[in-house]
Amino acid sequence: MKRTHYSKDITPEMNGNAVIVSGWVHEIRDFGGLAFLILRDRAGLVQVTMPKKKVPKEIVDTVKSLSRESVVSIGGTVKAEAKAPHGYELIPTEIEVLSIADAPLPLDPTGKVPAELDTRLDARFMDIRSPEVTAVFTIRAHMIKAVRDFLSANGCLEIATPKIVATATEGGTALFPISYFDREAFLNQSPQLYKQMMMASGMDRVYEIGPIFRAEEHATRKHLNEATSIDVELSFATHEDAMILLENTIAYVYNHVKENCASQLKVLNIDLQVPKTPFRRVPYTEAIAIAKTSPECAHLELGDDLDTAAEHVIGETVGEHYFIVDWPTNIRAFYSQAYDERPEVCKAFDLMHPRMELSSGAQREHRVDKLTKNLEDRELNPDSFKFYLDSFRYGMPPHAGWGLGAERLLQTMLNLNNVREAVLFPRDRVRITP
Ligand code: ATP
Ligand code: MN
Repeated sequence: MKRTHYSKDITPEMNGNAVIVSGWVHEIRDFGGLAFLILRDRAGLVQVTMPKKKVPKEIVDTVKSLSRESVVSIGGTVKAEAKAPHGYELIPTEIEVLSIADAPLPLDPTGKVPAELDTRLDARFMDIRSPEVTAVFTIRAHMIKAVRDFLSANGCLEIATPKIVATATEGGTALFPISYFDREAFLNQSPQLYKQMMMASGMDRVYEIGPIFRAEEHATRKHLNEATSIDVELSFATHEDAMILLENTIAYVYNHVKENCASQLKVLNIDLQVPKTPFRRVPYTEAIAIAKTSPECAHLELGDDLDTAAEHVIGETVGEHYFIVDWPTNIRAFYSQAYDERPEVCKAFDLMHPRMELSSGAQREHRVDKLTKNLEDRELNPDSFKFYLDSFRYGMPPHAGWGLGAERLLQTMLNLNNVREAVLFPRDRVRITP
C-alpha cells in the first residue's frame, strides 16, 4: 500500500511518526536552502518540507524535477508545525514518482487561475481535483448515502426499474428515442409508472435512485437532459404522509452533511442551516396570489402553471423550503388523485426551495376506472398504458409518492450557481462528451 494516511488523518500529536502519503503535486516552492512540496489528496493538502541540510540530495533533486500535478508517494516523518495545513509538516525520507504530468495543464486545479464552466467541464477529471470541486462531490456521496440510510430506516426497499421503455410516462414531455433491435424504444423520463406498479406487487414501500432522461431543449441553470431522481412510493399512504417523509428526508440529509462533511463545507465556505420541519404548506391559490404581487407575474391567472419568475417571487416571500399543495387537477399529471368532494383540485404537491422546485409528488389515483378516465381527459390512449393499468385491476392499495432531483438538492444545499456543477459529467443540449 502506497499510503498509510490521508492528509487530514495525520495530526500534530503524531510528531515523530513515520507515515506515507500519496497524491498530486499541488505546488513546489524552492527557496534555495529550503524547498516545499505541497501534496494534495482528496482530503486536503500536506506540506512536505525539505531543509536541504536534512534531506537527502536525491529527494530534493527528484522533487525539483517534478511537473505540477504529477503523482507521487512520499514517506517521511511527521513534525508538528502550527502554520502548515492540518498543523503538521512532513520531512521526507523517501519519494516514489508514479506518474509524470504533461505541461501545460488544461486548467489550474489550484484555482489560482479561474476557468469558465465550459473549460472546466471539458477537463472535468482535472477540475474535480480542485479542493472546492472535490468537496462538492464528496458531499454528494454523503448526501446519497444519507438518503439511502434514511429511506431504508423508514421501511423503504430499494428497487431498480427499466430505463429502456416503450411508452412515455406522461404525454407531452419529450423523450429520447433509441433503436431497439427492429423497433423504436425510449429512455425513461421517470420511474413513475413502474414504482406505482410495485404498489400492486406488495413490496409496500419502495425507493429508487437512478437516472431520468428528458429530451427538453432547455438552456437553464436548473435543467439537465440526464438527471438523477430519488423516487419514493408508499402504499396505504396519503399525500400528507408522503410530504412528511419528504421534509424529514431533506432535514436528515442536511443534518448528515453538516455532521459528516464539516471540512468540505469549510472549503466551500458554507455555514449550512438545517431547514426546520414541518415545511410550510402553501395552497396553490395562495401561491398565485403571492406571485401576482410582483409586476413581473401580474399576468398570472388561477389555473396557470407557475413559471420560473413566479417561483422566485414566492420563494423570496416564503424564504425557506415550502410545499405548494392543492393544485388544479388539469395542470397535474393524470395519475394525481383529485379530491372527491372538489374534483377540480388534486392531492399533488411540489416541494420548493426558495430558488427552485426540488420535488413533485401526489397521492395517486388507484381506482382504475377513474385513472382510465384521467388518461382519456388528457387525450392519452389507455391502450398504450395497458401494462400499467392492468396492475390496478387485481388489488391495488391507495398510495402516494414523490420524485426528488438529486442534482437540484445538491445545487440548492451548496448554493451552486449552475446545476451542471452538481453532476460529474453533465449532459445538456450541446454536451455529450466527456
Ligand atoms: P421543472 O418544472 O422544474 O422543469 P418538472 O416539474 O418537469 O421540473 P418533474 O417531472 O416533476 O420535473 O420531476 C421531479 C423532479 O426531478 C423535479 O422536481 C426536479 O427536481 C427533477 N428534475 C426533473 N427534470 C429535471 C431536469 N431536466 N434537470 C434536473 N432535474 C430535473
Ligand atoms: Mn414537477
